[in-house]
Amino acid sequence: MKNETIAAISTASGSGAIGIVRLSGPDSLSILKKTWFGIGPDQFEPRRFYLGEIRSISNGETIDQVLAVWMKDPSSYTGEDTLEIHAHGSWAILELILENLLASGARLAEPGEFTLRAFKNGKVDLAQAEAVADLISATNREAARLAERQLAGSLSLFISKLKNNLTVLRAQMEAMIDFPEDEDVQGLRYNEISDRISSVENEIVSLLKTYQEGRIYRDGARVAIVGRPNAGKSSLLNSLVRQERAIVHETPGTTRDVVEETIDLEGLPVRFLDTAGIRHDPEPIEALGIRRTIDRIQAADLILAVFDSNRPWNDEDEEVLASLKERNFFCVYNKIDLPAAFPATYLLDRSRSNHLFPVSAKGGIGLEELKSSIRAHFLKGDRSSDLVLTSLRHKMALEKGVEALHAVYESAQKRLSYEFLVSDLRIATNHLSEITGEITSEAVLGEIFSKFCIGK
Ligand code: GDP
Repeated sequence: MKNETIAAISTASGSGAIGIVRLSGPDSLSILKKTWFGIGPDQFEPRRFYLGEIRSISNGETIDQVLAVWMKDPSSYTGEDTLEIHAHGSWAILELILENLLASGARLAEPGEFTLRAFKNGKVDLAQAEAVADLISATNREAARLAERQLAGSLSLFISKLKNNLTVLRAQMEAMIDFPEDEDVQGLRYNEISDRISSVENEIVSLLKTYQEGRIYRDGARVAIVGRPNAGKSSLLNSLVRQERAIVHETPGTTRDVVEETIDLEGLPVRFLDTAGIRHDPEPIEALGIRRTIDRIQAADLILAVFDSNRPWNDEDEEVLASLKERNFFCVYNKIDLPAAFPATYLLDRSRSNHLFPVSAKGGIGLEELKSSIRAHFLKGDRSSDLVLTSLRHKMALEKGVEALHAVYESAQKRLSYEFLVSDLRIATNHLSEITGEITSEAVLGEIFSKFCIGK
């Protein structure tokens, strides 16, 4: 069946100097022809710009003067005939152009459908297609760089190398199933199998360790600010945001709610969550804020516990400390511009923390130290390569792969028959294939591509 030709506006909404409407599919040129005034489109040469007009197919009126460029199947992003129409970047104009193309026989593209076609036509594998979405939504340079590496194939190459090792091993074992040899030789080979399996396992485990950092670059490190009322949580958040570039400015809710601000800490995106205080017997209106506070604390990667050095230590401070058990936290000894009601050493003893930061949130004192420690906490700085795992889907597939490999390892240790080993080895390889998409259900594809924007 011939593929339908799809169309969408590919640039972001709002007004810009130029905007691009894209068409992909075998009828791209003939669809454009119905609404085009100028040279071609029959005479278009691939990858050259042509000046012309888009005219309304209903009344012949000029909608815009545009540039069109044609990329011929298979040398295009999607692997199909593709046309880009570069118009003036008014959303009204772009929509009119799109409507004309739809009236001329194109179908409106689904979210991510251009990239889905690129995947189906073998232009990119699944990990690369996902990198396209990450690249578009990257909020900082490091996230963009990691997505670019993945798009270039760094992860795909790594996976295919591992799969290749496993496939060779499996082929050798299958050969031995077909041509069994004496026991001495088999014993030796079991050891060799174990070694080869654990070397692949180790490579995967090392990659899995990069996930925390990858996720943080992609989605931002979540840092919750907690403390009793009036300890200075909002003041701290405001000072931090004022000093750094705020990436997203979200409208604060009430003081009882969670306020979130994301800042760019020298390339590291950090999402600060200012939370409502945890109190006994909350009034109903506070209950929701408190519930959310608890959720946020649970999801946070790091907690800043703020204490008011100017007021005597009390039960509320004690409760804050109790809520931090077994969590990563820094103690912030705030309001050092005022006389101290208890010494910093007292807080150090009570909290048993190695991380105490004397600051004045209001006066902006001590914040540099705090910020660089936050950065250092997340970036251990020992990354040896650009291969960093950023996707939960990839992480889960790798974990299942490791599990299956470990089963192979254990069977080899127990000297079980090769049939068992081969079957688990096949399972492991299949999990690796899920990442690059050789083995993927339509449901998984639907889930991945529905998160794309329309036009990509
Ligand atoms: P929150 O309830 O924990 O969010 O506390 P706020 O940030 O609203 O601060 C409570 C009060 O303490 C406000 O009046 C702030 O101006 C004041 N405050 C916060 N930090 C400091 C500080 O470092 N020094 C001084 N002198 N006052 C501060």
